[in-house]
Amino acid sequence: MYAYYGRYLLIDLSSGRCEPQPLPAAEARAYLGGAGLAARWLYRHAPAGVEPFAPENPLVLAGCPLVDTGLTTTAKAAFAARSPLTRFLGESLISSHFAIALKRTGWDGLVMNGACALLSVLVVDGEQVRVLPMPELAGRSAAETERAVRAALGKGFQVAAIGLAGERRVRYAAISHDGRHAGRTGLGAVMGAKNLKAIAVRGARHAGIFDPEGLRDAATDLRRRSLGPETAKYRLLGTSANLLTFDRLGVLPTRNFQQATFSGAERLTGETLAAERGRERTGCAACAVGCEHRYLPGAGEAAVRAEYESLFALGPLLGIDDPDSVLRAAALCDEYGLDTLSLGGTLAWAMEAVDRGALSTAYLEGVDLRFGNAAAVLQAIPRIAAREGALGTLLAEGSRLAAEAIGQGSEAWAMHVKGLELPGYEPRALKTLALGLAVGARGACHNRSSAYDADFGGGADRLRVDLPRGREAAEAEDRAAVLDSLVICKFLRRCFDDFYPDAARLVALLTGWDIDGEELAETGRRIVTVKRLYNQREGASRVDDTLPPRLLSERVPDGPGAGSGITATDLDRMLDDYYQARGWTRDGLVSDAASNALLVAPTPGPPASTDAAG
Ligand code: SF4
Repeated sequence: MYAYYGRYLLIDLSSGRCEPQPLPAAEARAYLGGAGLAARWLYRHAPAGVEPFAPENPLVLAGCPLVDTGLTTTAKAAFAARSPLTRFLGESLISSHFAIALKRTGWDGLVMNGACALLSVLVVDGEQVRVLPMPELAGRSAAETERAVRAALGKGFQVAAIGLAGERRVRYAAISHDGRHAGRTGLGAVMGAKNLKAIAVRGARHAGIFDPEGLRDAATDLRRRSLGPETAKYRLLGTSANLLTFDRLGVLPTRNFQQATFSGAERLTGETLAAERGRERTGCAACAVGCEHRYLPGAGEAAVRAEYESLFALGPLLGIDDPDSVLRAAALCDEYGLDTLSLGGTLAWAMEAVDRGALSTAYLEGVDLRFGNAAAVLQAIPRIAAREGALGTLLAEGSRLAAEAIGQGSEAWAMHVKGLELPGYEPRALKTLALGLAVGARGACHNRSSAYDADFGGGADRLRVDLPRGREAAEAEDRAAVLDSLVICKFLRRCFDDFYPDAARLVALLTGWDIDGEELAETGRRIVTVKRLYNQREGASRVDDTLPPRLLSERVPDGPGAGSGITATDLDRMLDDYYQARGWTRDGLVSDAASNALLVAPTPGPPASTDAAG
């Protein structure tokens, strides 16, 4: 088989025992890799109802077919497990050299079960696999851990690691590599529960390419397109350019979604940060775009990556407009291994709870958590990462569980879907996105839906529920599923003339499969469905496809979208339309017949193939 090795490795961290598993061509073709294959393997290997922190909750790591082929922006792999934050599908991509080294091990992925007796590093050195106890890494940051592991193991290893937050099972802890994070849904805490501090991978294999010359030409073409006007924003300012635009459009959630514009936006925007301080531009391995921009918080301090979501979650969402403090908070999240979006969402909930008198001084322990108080945020982050004291222990649980713990109606302002805190978009003024967030398998996630493309692109009236938008939301999810499974970075999504046929041609050149755009679109639907099936097995149904009470009861208070809202009736109508577009029941369930067709005989016929290439 081209592009794949036709096998993945089941590893029992408790005993160190390994068991190779076949990856048939049919399954590779049906789920591609990355997010798709990770979800499929999780569905297969996770026992139903497993507790997220139990050793039996497998941590899946799936490689991607396009990695290490010369195609720009493809150096990514996907982690998956039952999420401790949502208790449904947890899944997140990790970028850069780690993904390339994983591909070169000669395994299409790893499924890690059990738990290490001592804090350890899993070492996959081609065919050699071992669990290496390194308890001396306790409390170290991911960056320090990466350096220490590489120094201990020798040249060529790439390392993904957790910081203190993962070790302490903070429910939104990240897995990190080279300063980039598989941040969402708390998979760092699953690693911590397995006593697994890091995964180190190295190899020298290259999966075969069916048509190397054709793929080289396609890679040159994609690189040229990736440097065109569609990605200029990312190269010039990165995603931080969104901040001022979103403020102008009135979709910049501020003070825990109590406003949709922020008076201090100008101070935090990419343009200001670039003008006022030193800046470095960088990017993931094997990427020509280089969308990452790093800024200096202050003299003598290390540069910090500042993309839109972190600026939003640590700035406007908390009412903070001091760029130095926002960058320092982002640096602390890097150091401890915390997802900035969930941290910001949880702190914003706490600040509103303080405002409303629902969080007592017994919890606060001297930290004056009020909107706009940057010093309090910088005090709170280390406590959360360590689960220290009443405040750290409460906020390490995320906004949903923290609200359940203190009660007093505070669930009303816990801004999450399925337990995952919302990203930096005001859903009441972006109606297609609102539906995308409500139905998302991993919770309130803009990355797995991209439904805002319809709102921003003018394809739908973003301020009115004039149409139910089920089809638009479903199509956006399917497209994102294919991008996240091949993987091609989402920032390239507008660089294709016609995404599905263009992407299918890349897959055909790589694999030799007789695949077309229609099949790839069907693959997107299949991947979304297997994610749904996983959640369904864990008890998800229509009641989980909802939005926070604030979004269904209050209207946008300010900005160009002022007065716009979504009622429960609007959402119901949109859900009906979405389920119909998907062919699911009115309760949002995949029928037995559909799930059997998907899981038992999932694919079109196998491609013309060769033996696994060395
Ligand atoms: S565009 Fe940005 S996020 Fe995407 S691969 Fe390149 S550097 Fe990474």
